[in-house]
Amino acid sequence: MRIHTPIRSAAVLGAGTMGAQIAAHLANAGVRTLLLDLTVEIASEGLKRARARRPDPFFTAEAAALVTVGALDRDLGRLADVDWIIEAVVEQIDVKRGLLERIDAVRRADTIATSNTSGIPIAALADGRTDTFKRHWLGTHFFNPPRYLRLLEVIPAPDTDRSVVERISWFADHRLGKGVVVAKDTPNFIANRIGLHGVMRTLRVLESGEYTIEEIDAITGPAIGRPSSATFRTIDIAGIDVLGHVARNLADRLGDDDERGTFELTPLIQSLIERRWIGEKVGQGFYQRSKTADGGSEILTLDPTTFTYRPKQSAKLPSLEAARSIDDVGERIKALFLGSDKVGAFLRATLGPTLLYSAQMAPIIAHSIDDVDRAMRWGFGWDLGPFEICDAIGVRQVIDAVGGAAPPPLVEEVLRTGRNRFRDAGLPPAAPDLQLLKSANDRQRIVRRNAGASLVDLDDGVLAVEFHSKVNAIGGDTVQMLQAGLKEAAANFAALVVGNDAPDFSAGANLMLVLLEAQEGNWDEIDLMVRTFQAVNLAIRYSAVPVIVCPAGRTLGGGCEIAVHADRVQAAAESYIGLVEVGVGLIPAGGGTKELLARAMADVPRGTADLLPLVQPVFETIGFAKVSTSAEHARQLGLLRETDAVTMNRERLIADAKALALARARDGYRPPLRPAIPVGGEGVLAALNLGVHLAWRAGRISDHDALIGRALARLLAGGALPHQTTVSEDYLLDLEREAFLKLCGERKTLERIQHTLKTGKPLRN
Ligand code: NAD
Repeated sequence: MRIHTPIRSAAVLGAGTMGAQIAAHLANAGVRTLLLDLTVEIASEGLKRARARRPDPFFTAEAAALVTVGALDRDLGRLADVDWIIEAVVEQIDVKRGLLERIDAVRRADTIATSNTSGIPIAALADGRTDTFKRHWLGTHFFNPPRYLRLLEVIPAPDTDRSVVERISWFADHRLGKGVVVAKDTPNFIANRIGLHGVMRTLRVLESGEYTIEEIDAITGPAIGRPSSATFRTIDIAGIDVLGHVARNLADRLGDDDERGTFELTPLIQSLIERRWIGEKVGQGFYQRSKTADGGSEILTLDPTTFTYRPKQSAKLPSLEAARSIDDVGERIKALFLGSDKVGAFLRATLGPTLLYSAQMAPIIAHSIDDVDRAMRWGFGWDLGPFEICDAIGVRQVIDAVGGAAPPPLVEEVLRTGRNRFRDAGLPPAAPDLQLLKSANDRQRIVRRNAGASLVDLDDGVLAVEFHSKVNAIGGDTVQMLQAGLKEAAANFAALVVGNDAPDFSAGANLMLVLLEAQEGNWDEIDLMVRTFQAVNLAIRYSAVPVIVCPAGRTLGGGCEIAVHADRVQAAAESYIGLVEVGVGLIPAGGGTKELLARAMADVPRGTADLLPLVQPVFETIGFAKVSTSAEHARQLGLLRETDAVTMNRERLIADAKALALARARDGYRPPLRPAIPVGGEGVLAALNLGVHLAWRAGRISDHDALIGRALARLLAGGALPHQTTVSEDYLLDLEREAFLKLCGERKTLERIQHTLKTGKPLRN
């Protein structure tokens, strides 16, 4: 793999919705970034608005400090100092061209300049610029919000140097964590062209009056492998004005495209834009959040004929209910699409033509059908791209269902060869090279498997334990496979990786098991469960081969405890890590509390008189069930160490973990020695308990919170020891188990567990 010169500094021009957030994400990647707008005040305001967004576009306050604001006139000269200039000002060709002329005059010869335009041709923007400018000029189309939306469309112009395209693509992929798709320089590129086609078709069906907004959202969400914000909530979030802008641009630029009419604004959209009912940013669009009499809030739905808002009506569509039982998303879409009911009719009228339009446009807008599928998966959050959907339904079935004009050449080709699919069956999915586990699974490198987890051979002497239970909850199956993986790796491999490709590494221990045993009073069973989990975590720590654990998404409770016992963590940048046991009335007892305490005490000089300042942060991280908002934030919470590594591109996580595992093995890995852990005894216990008491007296925590707080305090003080001393890991693990069992006997703890199992949320009782 070629590694390109990194981007170390950047400037973003335009501190609006996109510019400020792009600057934030560059800073997340460690890039010093200058954010310029017409005036310093406008730039500061833009940055402030970005920071007011929830979630914050910055990983941490340290990242935020990498962005400085300035004014275009005053600071134009500073553009000579940066590696990459991103233009993100208003979508007006003259404004953008004027700005590029000024950049051309000051930029360094090797500075790359790109535009975030959604629709203006990239080549046209650089008309009249110098040759060296043109060689370093291309489009980089981010999607909103840039921190979270994976797609980055990279659009070279005819004169762009290949090496420049490669350098930006490499950087965007590895450092910004983007899914990069190289697009052709055509109106609105790939994702918005295809995505808007489907949206505009859907809007026309809405205006026919045969479907309600709720029905359409019920059909176009998770039922067909799309985000739960479905059609109208997504439009409200993106902005109806933004939709109007993109659609108008397409209609204007498409010339003699047969589908030009599809992109013409519908009367409803025009009215909404005229009324400024443009979505979430003004509080109303297709939906409106309104206050109820009792001070709560409710969501109302637009009645598109009367322009009034009415209470939400839940959609009653039996075929959607029936399709719930079909796990495979392709099979589910097929069943719904071919159904003889209202849902089938809707999908054939909206999705059907968009599938054919994708086939017609793919050769014109993209370099491969894989790229079209990726663009829709990464940019619009579809589980399957249009070609994958066609293959799931059957190309012939799509044509028959949609009818109409002659099929596009790509479709004709498929039909002529009698394959009925764009991709031959059995061909690996797009871009498997990034996702090591997926490709190892495709190649049937599974060493062992049970319902909750598998051992997968990643080649080159690295074994993986992959969880695949629901939300990757940890139960008997997963623990058993961890034990088997540790044994197998120590005997036959150089290293072990624990990770998966799922959205969440693990939502924590399977609470249902704990609840059932506690309700039956089976304390020995619970004791055994906790003991076994502690033992497996210790085995991770003291394994003869290095163990790398890969948090990603939610890495909570038991999932976090596994991670903190790794030789090294390789975390996805978007990792939400936390010991959240207190939320369910428990304390971390899989070695997590012990481990955080041991870390805090690792470098304490002998004879340190007061351990409280070191224990207090651990008490707060666990006691407040803090969850990191990013991997970098987890470092600040003490849940990741300085030596732990972060991967920006989720799909590269396991590959990076494997590389780290091999490097650790090559360096002559030896397991650590068992530590003697300093504990504070009664002094620390009294101080922590006083804190709990004051919080309770001030009404900030409940009786039960206080009870749990005291149990945690006792554990972190090392028990009721008369004075400061050192203890072993086993001693602390015994205390963890004892506290856990006691709390399991509390009615309020069981209520918390029940509530969380039912609602997914913590209960404060
Ligand atoms: P915006 O209106 O929020 O921000 C534009 C910024 O440009 C403002 O801060 C404004 O002060 C500044 N500006 C205006 N005139 C200027 C001038 N003459 N010189 C310099 N700066 C000037 O717009 P946005 O939504 O952030 O969009 C910026 C670009 O990104 C556009 O090209 C848009 O098409 C594209 N884009 C937007 C989205 C989106 O979802 N909003 C998504 C992808 C791409």
